[in-house]
Amino acid sequence: MVTSKVTVQEKEGIMEVPTWWTCPEGFQELQKLAHLLGENELLPRAIISDQEGQYPRESLKEIAKAGYGAVTIPMEAGGLENGFTAFSVLSESFAQYCPSSTMCWVMHTTTVHTLYEAGTEEQRKRYIPGILKGDVGALAFSEPATGGHFWNVVSEAPRKESVYLLNADKSFVTSGGEADFYIVATSSPDTKDQDNLMYLLVEKDQEGIESFPFSAMGLRGNASGPMKFKNVKVPLENRIGGEGGAGYYNDNTVDPLFLLGTAACWIGIAQGALNAAIDGAKKKVHADTGSSVAGYQVIRHELAKSQILIDSARSMLYRTAQAMDECAEKGLELSECLYPLWQLKTHAADMVITVTNAALQVSGGRGYLTGQVEKFLRDGRAGALMGPTNEVLREWIGRTLIEVPWMD
Ligand SMILES: Cc1cc2nc3c(=O)[nH]c(=O)nc-3n(C[C@H](O)[C@H](O)[C@H](O)COP(=O)(O)OP(=O)(O)OC[C@H]3O[C@@H](n4cnc5c(N)ncnc54)[C@H](O)[C@@H]3O)c2cc1C
Repeated sequence: MVTSKVTVQEKEGIMEVPTWWTCPEGFQELQKLAHLLGENELLPRAIISDQEGQYPRESLKEIAKAGYGAVTIPMEAGGLENGFTAFSVLSESFAQYCPSSTMCWVMHTTTVHTLYEAGTEEQRKRYIPGILKGDVGALAFSEPATGGHFWNVVSEAPRKESVYLLNADKSFVTSGGEADFYIVATSSPDTKDQDNLMYLLVEKDQEGIESFPFSAMGLRGNASGPMKFKNVKVPLENRIGGEGGAGYYNDNTVDPLFLLGTAACWIGIAQGALNAAIDGAKKKVHADTGSSVAGYQVIRHELAKSQILIDSARSMLYRTAQAMDECAEKGLELSECLYPLWQLKTHAADMVITVTNAALQVSGGRGYLTGQVEKFLRDGRAGALMGPTNEVLREWIGRTLIEVPWMD
């Protein structure tokens, strides 16, 4: 929104984009710090992480060192003020430098928020101090048997005296084999709750955990490979939330955080790709015509169309993030924001495909060579197929529009 402090300036005829358009009021300083961190710490390791499929551990350590290990939990517990907006600003900014570290950090932040919300005071005391120092958390939800329907699991963890005996096959786990702890979604055969979904916290050194390599088109540093949990003995005190009933946290914690953080990541990737394309288009000059690539009107129109698409998703992002902060402040449930979040994620994940493709086209053959632009295209392509996938989300939106229950 326009405040009296904000003016649209013109310098020698050049329109200056108002900062309130690209960053929510009050977050400019955080955005600046995030870009500095991105440029100095994330970018230098991003290419090697992509080329060698190397997990970005050092980058994640630097993010935690900067004070962003648990940004969405209350400030007195180590979070930031208006944590959901801060989360969005940071994710969008980091993704312009290293989408792999950003995605690991988004999944980590979602895990930490779930631990905080669903966990007991004792569990918070046990894990949050380590998290603030750089311990990484991960979410092991999706299973090969149910694919993108990660809210339905076939795995089970029956209670056996003082432990749950966890047997679960997981198809994709970001930070798999690298995280310090996992929140594993499984089911309880012992619960009387109609919803038998249960979360268990599994520490990295527990016996019976196996992780497998991740070889993929993009986000190659993510370590998002499959995991197996075979007869893992999880102490009863490591159950996060009830024995059953975890569906509530899927709707009020996991989905809202994941949808917001990943949407911000796709927006950052799109902006990063467009910035690289603009830079290249200004620098490349054709000797025969004397014109830079940016000098061709058709190219400028492509740039404009892409920026409009990015800013449409960005506007949705910050409006939704602010609504989530308001919910937190008023003690309302985050599921109040699910419908806008579905639209936001679908739009951001569709948009990043269109924009990175246009960025590559504008960059010509140079864009096709191994480098920033083609990497952004590969990284951004994951958005539409990460759960809830865009097909599933459009179905939920459509059902809502015709006023029938969104979930069967
Ligand atoms: C890079 C990456 C990181 C990931 N990280 C994690 C993680 O940390 N934790 C985690 O738990 N999971 C993670 N996932 C898994 C992700 O969230 C999805 O569950 C997974 O990508 C879905 O893939 P699938 O092959 O199982 O899809 P499938 O379910 O087999 O889907 C195949 C196609 O069918 C469509 N489809 C599926 N169901 C429906 C339906 N009901 N209606 C209409 N169309 C439908 C899909 O949209 C898709 O187009 C990750 C995935 C990727 C790619």
